[in-house]
Amino acid sequence: MAKIRVLGEEVARQIAAGEVVDRPASVVKELIENAVDAGAKSITIKTFDAGEKLVEVHDDGCGMAPDDVKLAAKSFSTSKISDAHDLFRIETYGFRGEALASISSVSRFDIVSSHGEDGEGWRVRIEGKSAVESAPAPHEKGTTVAVRDLFFNTPARKKFLKSAITERRRILETVLSFALIDPELEIHYSDNGKAVLDLVASQSWRDRITAILGASTMKHMVTVESDASPIQLRGFVSLPTHTRTNRNHQFLYVNRRLVREKTTLAAVQEAYRSVIPYKRYPVVVLAVDVPYGDVDVNVHPTKLEVRLKHPRHTFDIVCNAVKRALSAHSEAALDVGYRSAHSPADSGRSPG
Ligand code: ADP
Ligand code: MG
Repeated sequence: MAKIRVLGEEVARQIAAGEVVDRPASVVKELIENAVDAGAKSITIKTFDAGEKLVEVHDDGCGMAPDDVKLAAKSFSTSKISDAHDLFRIETYGFRGEALASISSVSRFDIVSSHGEDGEGWRVRIEGKSAVESAPAPHEKGTTVAVRDLFFNTPARKKFLKSAITERRRILETVLSFALIDPELEIHYSDNGKAVLDLVASQSWRDRITAILGASTMKHMVTVESDASPIQLRGFVSLPTHTRTNRNHQFLYVNRRLVREKTTLAAVQEAYRSVIPYKRYPVVVLAVDVPYGDVDVNVHPTKLEVRLKHPRHTFDIVCNAVKRALSAHSEAALDVGYRSAHSPADSGRSPG
């Protein structure tokens, strides 16, 4: 007798969900990505019990028409790509159309959205698998998604959640990762009704990073810049005198997506090779922009890894740019040292 059988839709969905949603922080990530893709200027995230009871994300983006709200949580439903070619020029965070389907299959899911200015929206509620409500509902232009009782129907997965402290930390890290790369984005985050983070739109990227990493860290960071077409590099790295024992303070973005891209991280480390001890890591906030066609973002379920088309070239550009930034700083420091040792007052001559 044949042993292979085709799994039912519900099991199949839950398996797929496991790839995308493994903890409250991954729900937060997917919902913020959707909000940013929708052009939101302001995003409010509310969690209860570190996201286990509730993750709610509200945005003021473009919103959706009722028919789109009805489709949004269906598998492979996306407005972001339409054919396989599009996969190789992804400009949005999302494209697979499976996040909302996955999240709604393992939670009590509630989405309300409106795309007009009349305050009229549409709500869809889904529990586990089936829609339990689809009806008009008042909502300002934008979208609110509430995810309650995550993993209520997959208790085995729930057991893998860590302590509330750990889950809360991961949520905060996720929220900060979006705040760091997008200074103009207003972000509010609260847990159990207590404000955790309130960031208004910043004047500059430096201001935003300072608000997050702190002025004392920022004081020891130097600017990295490179325009070696077609790769653009912008960011800040810490001086060799201010390194850490782990990589937790390394934020690398490829086309605005926070990733663990090994080539680029190795290139940064290489730039410090002769100036910092073994197993010390600089603080890094680096935005690498490459043509959309030069990066494959469809190689990892949560898109945490990406594949660059020209890794060697990227390595050289990143490494050289970081080295340049560090040596420019030490030359400037030497220069200041020299000038103060030979200041006009000392020599008795007025500056010519
Ligand atoms: P993807 O982001 O990969 O397209 P999702 O399952 O995350 O897939 O979302 C499905 C679709 O629902 C999106 O393509 C988008 O059209 C719509 N959508 C989801 N969230 C929002 C939002 N916050 N604002 C506007 N549209 C949204
Ligand atoms: Mg998405």
